[in-house]
Amino acid sequence: MSEEKSLHFIEEIVEQDLQSGKYKSIITRFPPEPNGYLHIGHSKSICLNFGLAAKYGGSTNLRFDDTNPVTEDTEYVESIKADIRWLGFDWSNELYASDYFDQLYAFAVSLIQQGLAYVDDSTSEEIAQLKGTPTEPGKNSAYRDRSMTENLQLFEEMKSGKYKDGEKVLRAKIDMAHTNMLMRDPIIYRIKHAHHHRTGDKWCIYPMYDFAHGQSDSIEKITHSICTLEFIPHRELYDWFIEKLSIFPSHQYEFARLNMTYTVMSKRKLLQLVNEGHVTGWDDPRMPTISGFRRKGYTPASIRTFCDKIGVAKRENLIDLSLLEFCLREDLNHTAKRAMAVLDPLKMVITNYETGKTEELTSENGPDASMGTRTIPFSKELWIEQEDFMEVPAKKWFRLAPGAMVRLKSAYIVQCDHFIKNEQGQVVEVHCTYIPESKSGSDTSGINVKGTIHWVSAAHATTAEIRLYDRLFRVENPSSEEGDFKEYINPDSLQIISKAYIEPSLSQATLEDRFQFLRKGYFCLDTDSTKNHLIFNRTVTLKDAWSKEVKKG
Ligand code: ATP
Ligand code: MG
Repeated sequence: MSEEKSLHFIEEIVEQDLQSGKYKSIITRFPPEPNGYLHIGHSKSICLNFGLAAKYGGSTNLRFDDTNPVTEDTEYVESIKADIRWLGFDWSNELYASDYFDQLYAFAVSLIQQGLAYVDDSTSEEIAQLKGTPTEPGKNSAYRDRSMTENLQLFEEMKSGKYKDGEKVLRAKIDMAHTNMLMRDPIIYRIKHAHHHRTGDKWCIYPMYDFAHGQSDSIEKITHSICTLEFIPHRELYDWFIEKLSIFPSHQYEFARLNMTYTVMSKRKLLQLVNEGHVTGWDDPRMPTISGFRRKGYTPASIRTFCDKIGVAKRENLIDLSLLEFCLREDLNHTAKRAMAVLDPLKMVITNYETGKTEELTSENGPDASMGTRTIPFSKELWIEQEDFMEVPAKKWFRLAPGAMVRLKSAYIVQCDHFIKNEQGQVVEVHCTYIPESKSGSDTSGINVKGTIHWVSAAHATTAEIRLYDRLFRVENPSSEEGDFKEYINPDSLQIISKAYIEPSLSQATLEDRFQFLRKGYFCLDTDSTKNHLIFNRTVTLKDAWSKEVKKG
């Protein structure tokens, strides 16, 4: 029996619509507002929209929802396109809501002509006052009964720049006593004398989200317009405009947005982190942005798998960041190249190894032989990790200690004979003898040791800066805590190791490479890296240290 995953509720709707013949094929869209970089929450929407089209042989438009000139920018447009491509998706059409401004204007005129829209001179405070509350009906504006001719003329004048920002708005004429507050004569156009990143200074009136989104869907003949739960109350208005304008009936469906622990997910908050210097930029590896994850070393496949695993739900929840890390480790374990790096160095001298001699030892690149092998130089003086030596060994200590034996990965078994301390009492050098017959791959020594440690040859090592990242916030859900979310920033989210020793092959690393530094975690080259100053980011630790802590609790 095949292990088929059951359909999620949107797939069920799509299958019904295709079976019933309602649509021959489906068209979805991903509609980002270009006012920030995409975050991991967006990747859920991307995987869903592009995934549906791929599964059912339809197509997906990328539509920039650029109806607010003040916050939008072409930098964001470019980053959004790069991020979607990186995730592995491609759109059928690149479209902009601003391309529909003429059409949207005509739609508004049509509503006025039908007596379904009017120009209101009230201030925003007055409009808010007359709006009522969820339990109390609102009151009609004094301008609600203007004649069609007057409305047409005023709207035309709004467009031509006769009025200042906020002096007038265009409102749909629906019902000030409607139980859905959004249906109480919503504003559909506002005056904003602002330069738009695409239309320049052509317009000084801009459509509101509700007047742009559904109509844009309809213009593009989107069959399934998928958005997050907070838009449920907007659906009624979405349908109302489509009905009154007699245009293609797109339908809106809502799913639960992705929320993840130890981070924030709104562009507004992410922008604050960037602007106030809490991080180095949108692509800081601690950011939950796609570009942050990419720079940190995440793979597109791991993010896609994650989005698939969390599924598509109708109820809000908070997903554990460890699930994303789990998906990442699963992927990197199979794909990352193995290498050795010593982050906290301790000198090892092999007293019985010939001075000046170098051996090129062979080591596997991957978890098995399938990724080939590379050579690593071995010589008399090595770097090992401080933490792999214990002067007074603990119980069940299988690593290095006075008199103890350990295997050097892909090399020899060594025994510790002696160690040297500095004036502060810190061990600075260990002296060992190696067993020549114990060479990995041709070991005839007959000696069994329990511990294997990593190392690099001191004479051949390259140095690198290593950046170790931790969660950006100290609490699971910073947005739900009291006070400002920035009070919960983790002060230790970045630890820099300025001089680590890495095996020489790593000086050839490219930005695309993913590495497992043996026993230390997964790493990748950082974009700040140069030939003379290599910088590696820790993508993720080998194990989930944090869940263990909780269990120990
Ligand atoms: P933010 O609140 O972070 O600014 P947004 O919803 O305003 O997000 P848009 O650019 O308007 O951002 O979003 C584009 C698409 O991505 C929308 O369809 C939106 O529903 C979806 N989306 C945004 N955030 C999430 C999330 N956390 N989970 C799932 N989908 C999301
Ligand atoms: Mg938005």
